Amino acid sequence: VTPSATERLYYDDSYLTTFEASVIDSENSRVHLDRTAFYPTSGGQPHDLGTIGGKAVVDVVDEPEGRIAHVVSDSLPAGPVTCEVNWERRYDHMQQHSAQHLLSAVFVELFGYPTVSFHLGESLSTIELKVRDIPDKQMDEAEARANAVVREARPVTVSYTDAESAEGLRKPSARSGRLRIITIQDLDRSACGGTHVRSTAELGPIQIRGIEKIRGNVRIEYVAGDRALRRAGQDYRIAAALARGTSSGIDQLPEFVTALQARLAQAEKDRKRLLNELAQQQGSALYVATTASPDGVKRALLEVPAVDDAVRAKLQTFAMQGPAIAVAAGDDPAGVAIVCSPDAGMHAGNALKSVLSAAGGSGGGSATLAQGQLPDRSVLKAVLAMLGFELSG
Ligand SMILES: [Zn+2]
Repeated sequence: VTPSATERLYYDDSYLTTFEASVIDSENSRVHLDRTAFYPTSGGQPHDLGTIGGKAVVDVVDEPEGRIAHVVSDSLPAGPVTCEVNWERRYDHMQQHSAQHLLSAVFVELFGYPTVSFHLGESLSTIELKVRDIPDKQMDEAEARANAVVREARPVTVSYTDAESAEGLRKPSARSGRLRIITIQDLDRSACGGTHVRSTAELGPIQIRGIEKIRGNVRIEYVAGDRALRRAGQDYRIAAALARGTSSGIDQLPEFVTALQARLAQAEKDRKRLLNELAQQQGSALYVATTASPDGVKRALLEVPAVDDAVRAKLQTFAMQGPAIAVAAGDDPAGVAIVCSPDAGMHAGNALKSVLSAAGGSGGGSATLAQGQLPDRSVLKAVLAMLGFELSG
């Protein structure tokens, strides 16, 4: 026996939240009712939540043969039950979905951009439009036009027609048989199974929040109704929090941040210059404090966390006064840098190459400056010994 389709009460009354129904069967917490006001996930709109006989509904699924399964927290006995749809969630979905029909219609009306797909998300909803790019000016125009239609409080109505005789649809329907048509008076006719508001007055304000290029199309992000108000409140609180502790109000935040970025960039430049100067002074002081070896060459070993620009500057200042050889041993990443004065009797690049080929690692350089990486810190001691240096620890 083929089970009969579930009667969809939301088709003709999106505002129905409390209803009586009969549990037909309840298996593995999937409940089938004879009639339901619960919307199943479909057409870009997420499912409703609520309760059936006091049990929480966690998912609502469109099944073959027009059946709807309600996934509940617990199984239910067959028979009559009172059901309740979570209105806050449903009404939010109605506002976002009807706003999508309105925006999609406006983009066709003003610019001829058809809608490819729609997704109703947790915080933002998106419409993908078949066009490569949309200038800001058109975006503003579309938003203004949509909000003008909101203010006109146009009726949004449900009607039914045969697919063969359906006329004036914004998007041709691939379905056959009876079509459910959602009409925004004098603006839009769309085949749709979703839940919608009665009047465009319930959709305002509509705000386009972002635009993204995707698959050669444009995807716009928008919010409508209560969600738009909540989002605007959130934006204000974020801006106000950022403005606190600055001398600016929220309207001056962009200038404030731009100025801050410029100061940060200058401070970073200054910091690098000062570090370099400090390294040079340290290199000079180290040269003065170092006693020359019997061969007349001054040798210094710097054990550093990592070989960076400041370390190289220190090595170079030490060695440039010659005859001198300065080596830096970096811990993480494990590495070595050698700087020699031309009269030190050592070719930095060749010396490094020969020790690296023995110990493993990579690197190279010129006669006066060479740098290399070691596979790990354990070979550092051996590498330094080959160069005539000894680690302190
Ligand atoms: Zn729709």
